[in-house]
Amino acid sequence: MSDTLLVVNCGSSSLKLAVFSRDMQRQAQILAERLGTSDSSASIERKGQRQTLQLPDNSDHQQALTAVIEHLEQEAILEGAPLVIGHRVVHGGETFREATRIDQHVADAIHRCGELAPLHNPVNLNGIRAMQSLYPDTPQIAVFDTAFHQTLPDHAYLYALPRRCYQDWGVRRYGFHGTSHAYILRELAKKLDKPRSNVSLISAHLGNGCSVAAIENGQSRDTSMGLTPLEGLVMGTRSGDVDPGLFDFLQRKGLSQDSISRMLNQESGLLGLSGKTNDMRSLVQAADSGNRAAQEAIDVFCFRLARYIGAMMASLSHLDGLVFTGGIGENSPRVRAKTVRHLRLLGFEVDDAKNENHGQDNNGSINAAGHGIYVIPTDEEGMIAREALEAIDRSSD
Ligand code: ADP
Repeated sequence: MSDTLLVVNCGSSSLKLAVFSRDMQRQAQILAERLGTSDSSASIERKGQRQTLQLPDNSDHQQALTAVIEHLEQEAILEGAPLVIGHRVVHGGETFREATRIDQHVADAIHRCGELAPLHNPVNLNGIRAMQSLYPDTPQIAVFDTAFHQTLPDHAYLYALPRRCYQDWGVRRYGFHGTSHAYILRELAKKLDKPRSNVSLISAHLGNGCSVAAIENGQSRDTSMGLTPLEGLVMGTRSGDVDPGLFDFLQRKGLSQDSISRMLNQESGLLGLSGKTNDMRSLVQAADSGNRAAQEAIDVFCFRLARYIGAMMASLSHLDGLVFTGGIGENSPRVRAKTVRHLRLLGFEVDDAKNENHGQDNNGSINAAGHGIYVIPTDEEGMIAREALEAIDRSSD
């Protein structure tokens, strides 16, 4: 057995892997895309060098994983079975409060939670089964997007629906991006040199999916995503919050349930508003060249985000910092400044110069006065590797 840690993240048509050494140094990063087509390939990044591996036509997750692992072994990136394999699993329902070693009972429970995440859990399980057959003796750990939010109080997770919706069907707010929010908590605690259990923050994860979380004394107390990752902020292609009356309205206009679902998940958000792209960097460029719809998309994104940051304050008794992370949060001074401008009354103020260089000369800090505001790059894969290691330590106690 080697000293390597492997992280596997299976999406619907993609596959991400990361290889870490025991001391948490990232050794390689693999992204396989367009699985299930005749054009699937994997890009492998190692020590600043990039290689492309052509995958067999119409590869499913199992075939793609087998081909990638074979390549990693040939290139001596993997030497023997990994020490542990951490799998990203989107939905753990109320069953999983922490990363958990996978046995048949756990796999069955992940399957049952698939009712709440039909697009995600089944593919996550495919990845788990594929890795179990490749490395039957290696501990496989499930790290859940929802687990960190299992500390939400009932007033934050209950919807105002008839009780039976929760009791019979599990309809409640679960929250997602837990791995990223938990990582941000760790990093802020390190920066402030405080134990995590004393740190309170608002974490804004802004990537293609976006969510904010209120973390009070190291525990998640509120978050913007709900039963599914569609609730809350404006995202790349997801609408975030809409009036629930919209469903009726659109059905009366003749739209099917599938087309409404597609609209809200894949055709809305920044893409829907701009009519152009879901990519924030391109939107900023388009807005600068006078594209009004692109400017409006950015405006709506920032305003909704500011509203949610304001709402998160209701869950906190003190605040150590507001943290921006994810591709947009880490890289867009425009979005950070515009969002914080809405929050003056709550005591947030950005320092323009620090914000422009992402706080790099100030240990991530970008506030002028008032509450701390930070830019902290997230590392979901590194966090999954760490949680997987901690879980095998726990399971061998
Ligand atoms: P994912 O959720 O898929 O992991 P990322 O966290 O990589 O996504 O975030 C992708 C988003 O980050 C895209 O909207 C992209 O345009 C945005 N982004 C990356 N760099 C910049 C930048 N310099 N300015 C504005 N947005 C950026």
